[in-house]
Amino acid sequence: MKTEEFHVLTAELEKLTPHQRSVLVDCLHKIEHVQAVSTLVESRVQSKPLCPKCGHDHIARWGSASGLQRYRCAACRATFNALTGTPLARLRHKDKWLVYAQQMADGASVRNSAKVCDVHRNTTFLWRHRFLALPNEQKAQSLVGIAEADETYFLESFKGQKKGMPREPHKRGSKASKRGLSDEQIPVLICRDRTGSTSDFVLDKADKAHISAVLKPLLASDAVLCTDSGRALGAAVREIGITHRPINLAAGIKVVGKVYHVQNVNAYGSRLKEWMIRFHGVATHNLANYLGWRRLIDPAHGALSPRAVLFAALGMGRAQQLTVT
Ligand SMILES: [Zn+2]
Repeated sequence: MKTEEFHVLTAELEKLTPHQRSVLVDCLHKIEHVQAVSTLVESRVQSKPLCPKCGHDHIARWGSASGLQRYRCAACRATFNALTGTPLARLRHKDKWLVYAQQMADGASVRNSAKVCDVHRNTTFLWRHRFLALPNEQKAQSLVGIAEADETYFLESFKGQKKGMPREPHKRGSKASKRGLSDEQIPVLICRDRTGSTSDFVLDKADKAHISAVLKPLLASDAVLCTDSGRALGAAVREIGITHRPINLAAGIKVVGKVYHVQNVNAYGSRLKEWMIRFHGVATHNLANYLGWRRLIDPAHGALSPRAVLFAALGMGRAQQLTVT
């Protein structure tokens, strides 16, 4: 805005009623919040935007929309912005994303975060799973040195699912304690090494074949894997051919050879289980998202800032985040 226009504007402000003043202050805050989010989002492409459609790097600036710079690809003429192709593309209310990201860092419920962000809880439910789409995939790809593995189980749930239910939902007053919960247990394999790198897998079945399929690419060939005496897990480790240190917890043995134990993975599993109680059973098709959420906010990595949550939602790694001031 030109200086003269700005003077005219500020002179007009005196005429505002108290209500109009507070509306104006809210407007300014909203603009600031959108700008803060936009700056973080733009940092994804700032240095060199690539066309998300054809990968070309001949990109021109092409106006702006919804608080974000638009770009146009000279090769295919597609227009895009820094959110195109990310799970956060086309989500509304950017001014509330950082407030919501804090809610994610706190592990807040859909209902509470809706209240804090002043949006409908359908919105915070949608946001939750959009924010978790990429963290879900960001798990340790390789465990080294001494690693620990353990199985844990979650009740199968068809929560929120209207289609594809294997049976009718329980009627009110029926025996099941929670609607949409079956008595099937869904196995999850958690693996963690001593550097704190963690990976987890929702398994179709906790048998040797399924377990070795996920363990084999995960473990370095010279890794040593500690497990409790679960049979399928032990058989899978033998099949892969890496060194196995079974810990016979049932016999009261907790540590073998001073360093071999499953205390880290068990502690992680307990924290996960305890944390999940607040969600009162999660839909099985969303279970992996919650595992990713837990990995993201696990206290072993220190407290998580809202911007770190936003970066994780955009799939930005730590190195990329550090370049943002
Ligand atoms: Zn293109």
